[in-house]
Amino acid sequence: MDYDIVIIGAGTAGLTASIYAARAGKKVLILENEGIGGQIATSPKVENYPGFLEISGMEFSDKLYEQADALGVTLELDKAEKITDNGEYKTVKTEYGEYSCKAVIIATGVKHRHLGIDAEERYMGRGVSYCAVCDGAFYKGQTVAVVGGGNSAVQSAIMLSNICEKVYLIHRRDTFRCENKLSEEVKSISNIELVLDSVIKDLEGEGKLSAIIVENKAGETKKIEAAGLFVLVGQIPENSTFADTISLDESGYIIAGEDCKTNMDGVFAAGDCRTKAIRQLTTAASDGSVAALAACNL
Ligand code: NAP
Repeated sequence: MDYDIVIIGAGTAGLTASIYAARAGKKVLILENEGIGGQIATSPKVENYPGFLEISGMEFSDKLYEQADALGVTLELDKAEKITDNGEYKTVKTEYGEYSCKAVIIATGVKHRHLGIDAEERYMGRGVSYCAVCDGAFYKGQTVAVVGGGNSAVQSAIMLSNICEKVYLIHRRDTFRCENKLSEEVKSISNIELVLDSVIKDLEGEGKLSAIIVENKAGETKKIEAAGLFVLVGQIPENSTFADTISLDESGYIIAGEDCKTNMDGVFAAGDCRTKAIRQLTTAASDGSVAALAACNL
């Protein structure tokens, strides 16, 4: 057997699982195909994780990885493609290899949802971004827009208001979905202009983005001059690669309850990738520990 436990995904759930499993003396592999840290690494500020008054998402995930690494967890940058049950052991086939193990924890998280308009793909990397922490500094002193009304969009607009000359916050309704504290704060910042009850119809610019066309509920269109558009309209799971052996719900989330057990014995789903009501940092960490302790007991 190559490993006791293979964990797919190095976000909060996966790294927490690895810390618990390594501390239980297990030989652990984490497979990650994008960036270490997952979604939270792109969050400007975390203020609701117990024990930290305030910490950047990047620093939070760096600390988690440091902790896992110090415990001897192995991390491979490789994409898991298929999980097979061979009775006594499982195999995880990846883009570059194959690993046998006693248990698998899927902690693939979620990916950025796209707006879904044609122009979005055209301006991706040419003004359209999905991460204010990663790309905000490119727009220093310029005018940008953020679209969305959840925690990610509102936090990002607040962060960008400190870097950019002006920030438009475009939202399809007139109330925000984010925490109350954030919606109060965003309304009080002088260089943030709210564009409510409005949807983005098109993007314009020669080679790179220069304007955003929005339409309000009355059907009136308006052109907003902006060099950047940060699309923060929620997240979607990407578990389809496991769908032939692991059961997913109609939205693509892995069907698993609070015990993190999937339809396949010895395979667990932890964090945002599974069916659950609350997707938060705290619940991802909680799932990581639940799944790891169950996997350690196999
Ligand atoms: P979210 O809470 O799902 O919000 C997505 C927003 O995008 C909503 O306002 C939604 O509008 C809007 N939207 C969705 N599809 C759209 C479309 N096609 N066009 C225009 N607007 C669209 O997503 P999120 O802000 O990424 O947050 C995801 C989860 O992570 C949440 O549970 C959040 O609390 C959590 N989070 C936590 C922290 C933290 O703890 N520090 C930070 C960031 C995020 P409607 O409101 O009209 O549906």
